[in-house]
Parts: sequence; structure tokens; C-alpha cells
Amino acid sequence: MERKDKKTLAWKSQIPEEDSALSTLDSGTMEFMKWLIAKDTNSGDTLIIVKDYLDDKYVILFDKSISKDVIVSYRDGMPLCITCDADDCGHVGFAISLKQNYDRGDRNFLQNH
Ligand SMILES: [Zn+2]
Repeated sequence: MERKDKKTLAWKSQIPEEDSALSTLDSGTMEFMKWLIAKDTNSGDTLIIVKDYLDDKYVILFDKSISKDVIVSYRDGMPLCITCDADDCGHVGFAISLKQNYDRGDRNFLQNH
């Protein structure tokens, strides 16, 4: 039985060969929830590390699944993943959640700077 989680693969043509584990917006949102919990418990068990964040400009993530830095740029509130050249990958999902969290006043993730 094949699972049909992915609604459409049309956008996949934009994604480079070495796919990140975070290939959908939803997976990025899920990863953000894991990241939030890991941050509070210091478990470090996340696919994503937030390396840098500048509000309304960009966020630099490290994606362990592809061992690469990923830059997501916030343009007029609509993030674009520079690394995947996509606005619907998991990094964008993560970036949207991160910004929402920041806007709510949770800025603890900046403490490592
Ligand atoms: Zn991406």
C-alpha cells in the first residue's frame, strides 16, 4: 500500500537532486514544533539549527538532512528559500513558524549570539 501524503509532485522539479527531508511546508512546520520542544529541553534532537535571524530580512538555518546552510529570505512577509529556490519547501514552513513565534515575543532562540 502506497501512502499518498504528498498531494502533488509538480513543484518537485524546482528542487535540486539532494532533497532535504524538509520538502513540504507541513514538514517544516512539524520540524519547528520539534525544534521548539528541543530548545526547551536542550535535547538537540532536531534536523534544523537556527544559525542567524534578522527580523523581516532573513533567517539562516542549518539543515542536517542535507548538511548545508539554508537561507530563507523574508520578502514582504512572504518567505523565499534561496537554497531550494522555492516558497513552499520545509525551510519556508519553518521560517514562517519562526517568525510567528518571534512576533509573539519569543526571542530566546537568539540567545546564542
Ligand atoms: Zn528550502
